[in-house]
Amino acid sequence: MTSATPMLSMTEIGPTVTVIGAGPAGLAAAVEAATAGIRVTVIDAGARPGGQYWRHGPAGLDADLHHDIALFTDLHTRFQRLITTGKITYLPGHQVWTLTTTADEATVHAIDPRDVAQPVEVTVTSDYLVLAVGAYDRQLPFPGWDLPGVMTVGAAQSLLKGSGVVVGPRVLVAGTGPFLLPVAAGLAVRGSRVVGVYEANDPIKWLGQLPALLGQSRKIREAAGYLLALARHRIRVRHRSIVVAAHGSLRLEAVTVARLDRSGAIKGSIRIRIPVDVLAVGYGFTAQSELPLLAGCEMHATDDQTLSVIVDDQQATSNTRVFAAGETTGIGGAQLAVAEGTLAGAAVAHVVGRSVDGQARRLDELAMQRDQLRRFAVALHAVYPVPSTWTDIVEADTVVCRCEEVTVAEISEAVALGARDLRSVKLLSRAGMGWCQGRECAYATACLIAQQVGTPLDLGSGAGRPVATPIPLGLLAATYPEPAETDQQQLN
Ligand SMILES: Cc1cc2nc3c(=O)[nH]c(=O)nc-3n(C[C@H](O)[C@H](O)[C@H](O)COP(=O)(O)OP(=O)(O)OC[C@H]3O[C@@H](n4cnc5c(N)ncnc54)[C@H](O)[C@@H]3O)c2cc1C
Repeated sequence: MTSATPMLSMTEIGPTVTVIGAGPAGLAAAVEAATAGIRVTVIDAGARPGGQYWRHGPAGLDADLHHDIALFTDLHTRFQRLITTGKITYLPGHQVWTLTTTADEATVHAIDPRDVAQPVEVTVTSDYLVLAVGAYDRQLPFPGWDLPGVMTVGAAQSLLKGSGVVVGPRVLVAGTGPFLLPVAAGLAVRGSRVVGVYEANDPIKWLGQLPALLGQSRKIREAAGYLLALARHRIRVRHRSIVVAAHGSLRLEAVTVARLDRSGAIKGSIRIRIPVDVLAVGYGFTAQSELPLLAGCEMHATDDQTLSVIVDDQQATSNTRVFAAGETTGIGGAQLAVAEGTLAGAAVAHVVGRSVDGQARRLDELAMQRDQLRRFAVALHAVYPVPSTWTDIVEADTVVCRCEEVTVAEISEAVALGARDLRSVKLLSRAGMGWCQGRECAYATACLIAQQVGTPLDLGSGAGRPVATPIPLGLLAATYPEPAETDQQQLN
């Protein structure tokens, strides 16, 4: 229940759950749990429901930029109805900055920063939590990547879907993964001249993953639709190609592209320089791990080298008060997020002895669909791995941590001084100590450490953050005043 609502005892209002995130996973979890009779609070940083996949523009969802709109419409209609009937409390524009759990309940602290002059804190206590906080773009450094005009593919997509902004007249899309296709197609449809899609991997690898394609006709149709749009705009997808440098004095003017051989190493000495205004580049996604780590959930590094929360068949984490769904449990796309969210909502209902009548068969089918989609995600990761050759592209003065302007050479220096993990490299070099707290550079820094020290990739040591999202110090001080004198004495 939120701190803004009149105080009722848990027995008066019945079982409660807080869902963090209103993307595909969070929406599905909230609708399922509320339909089963649980009081749900949904907290989401976004201004409108839909998350990254169904990101709204000023006039709503643009049909030509979106897939699965019918699924969103259905979920959204049910979500709104449950809000109207008081079964769901929806807090858009709220960022959860920390949370705690006890044996009996979970408490979430969020800020509503929409009034910049007077941000407020909201505290929500409930029986259970569903974490559905999604993922963010994974970046790799290369010479010139910090020039204005170089951006993530997710940023290009967010600007396009969310603000109707086309990022540039002449754009090159690069990196790896199927996400490059909708971004290039969307930009082309809205008038950009997309000079090419430079994909680091080779689709021939799909031949080794054919069983995972069974039953995925929806995904195949979606990919075919993007490829058709690219063909219509005469945009070529070049495989085994990687951007090795971005050039410009005040902003991006051109990029240099190299070819990769079948092993992923840079092939020959041929480099092509291409004039562009914008480079949209991305190497997959990284699961949001801050909140599951704060909840003490067990985590693991998945096959695509992202730190994700471990869930069982019921989407339960190792913390008995916490369930998780969607890309925080591993990168797998929106359909998988919806399946996991629905199952998480149903699992919470089951734990508190509620369920939607006659739904057992639907949930069994959904669990099968989830498992199939997870197999498909594993295949995707095998076809589109991060090209390991990126560490050969960086130079000593390439910036890795942009917040603190820490270069490759400074990370090597920290390793030479004896640092062996992210945390000690951070302490010696300040890499990951800035505004983003390592969200952008932790992966790259961990790869450089692993390569230089000769140890396995360690994503865990620098991942824990006591504050999940920036919070104004004034608000923190006002909300949590100094301890009383007696407490002070105890502290001393
Ligand atoms: C920038 C970006 C753009 C993308 N665009 C596409 C696309 O166009 N097509 C596609 O197929 N896939 C896209 N993806 C991949 C996409 O993330 C998923 O496939 C899908 O949206 C995952 O659903 P989800 O519910 O797990 O997470 P999300 O959709 O990411 O939803 C998570 C929600 O949690 C909220 N949240 C996170 N942290 C907090 C917090 N601390 N407090 C409060 N709320 C929080 C976020 O605001 C968000 O609304 C994109 C990913 C990113 C990062």
